[in-house]
Amino acid sequence: MKYVVSVSKTYTHRGNHRHKSTTKKRWHIYYYDEDGNFRTQRVSWLQALYYKAQKRKRLKYFCTDCGNAFLGFVKSSKEELECPYCEF
Ligand SMILES: [Zn+2]
Repeated sequence: MKYVVSVSKTYTHRGNHRHKSTTKKRWHIYYYDEDGNFRTQRVSWLQALYYKAQKRKRLKYFCTDCGNAFLGFVKSSKEELECPYCEF
């Protein structure tokens, strides 16, 4: 599961000047994996469109039942999340 927080077009040109080098723009997604690690991945423009629709906000939630704070990845701040601590 990828929690995509940003989709952007970035230049992949890395300053390695060769004769026929072209500056290309590539789509990248920035996401958090299930372990909460921030990652980047190159994607095609089609995938970029898909991930744009899947884009989430990284919000901090506070559970009023158990008092624990947790991070949630939601599409809208109005979205209700299940508390991961109360599930046990
Ligand atoms: Zn809770």
